[in-house]
Amino acid sequence: LAKEMGKNNYQFFTKELDEKNAKKMMLERELHKALERGQFQLHYQPQFDLQSGCLLGVEALIRWEHPKLGTVSPADFIPLAEETGLIVPIGNWVLQTACHQNKKWQDVGFPAVRISVNVSVRQFTQPNFVDNVKEVLEQSGLSPDCLDLEITESMTVEGEFFHSVLRKLKELNIHVSLDDFGTGYSSLSSLRHFPINRLKIDQTFVKTLDDTNKAIVAMIITLAKSLKINVIAEGVETMEQVIFLKEMNCHEAQGYFFAKPMPAEQITVFFARSFAYSLQ
Ligand code: C2E
Ligand code: MG
Ligand code: MG
Ligand code: MG
Repeated sequence: LAKEMGKNNYQFFTKELDEKNAKKMMLERELHKALERGQFQLHYQPQFDLQSGCLLGVEALIRWEHPKLGTVSPADFIPLAEETGLIVPIGNWVLQTACHQNKKWQDVGFPAVRISVNVSVRQFTQPNFVDNVKEVLEQSGLSPDCLDLEITESMTVEGEFFHSVLRKLKELNIHVSLDDFGTGYSSLSSLRHFPINRLKIDQTFVKTLDDTNKAIVAMIITLAKSLKINVIAEGVETMEQVIFLKEMNCHEAQGYFFAKPMPAEQITVFFARSFAYSLQ
């Protein structure tokens, strides 16, 4: 009997695996065609100065609108795009679209803000990555200090190569943030050698502000202060979180409490408001 059951379990298991693989293959096929079919879109989420309330920047977040599958979450297709290498052309499209959009906002007279673009390992380690970024900036006419590249902690283990790319970006005056900070495995002591501009506190710490998470958030803010870099909290959803972060002197915040990611046209309301602040 045990043997029978074991066999059934095995079959059940492989059937599930087959379905999973089939779904993945289908998604991969569709992903290959998504770019040329114009199925990607960028949404933008504002980032605010916690003390002045000014809008400092927006993060570009990719959306995939598939005619049959509906909206596919980046959490589902970005890992697949990385695995297949498709992240390189997709990431390039994101960079181009984000830079052109930011320049367009400035051209119609809104105050200059920074645009944050998520960059994955696969992109960052392309030998021509820096040249490519430079080219996109030149083509769009966007000033380098209006671009922020969000990289993740896991990239910091890439060692010397990673360092040299960061140094080149710094020379170009491009801003760099360490996304999802606190969830990766970068050694704290090595942080001082990375020419980065900002730590992004991961949303898991902000979500439930129990004593442990409060201590972690406070520690990251202190760390940023001693490194003389900026710090932003992401995933801020409640007034209680805002009050705590302000008390801790966290510089910036981003989250549903302030605004959800939204299409380009809708974000201009926030620009207008920020412009009004800056006139005061
Ligand atoms: P991320 O860069 O850490 O982005 C933050 C995620 O949190 C976004 O999810 C955003 O919509 C969501 N978020 C913002 N505020 C709140 C909040 O108050 N509460 C909650 N619960 N969530 C909030 P999204 O857009 O689904 O993106 C997920 C991840 O996919 C991103 O995490 C990023 O790692 C990746 N991603 C998104 N766009 C791109 C892209 O263009 N290129 C690359 N390489 N990765 C991207
Ligand atoms: Mg990000
Ligand atoms: Mg993040
Ligand atoms: Mg993330």
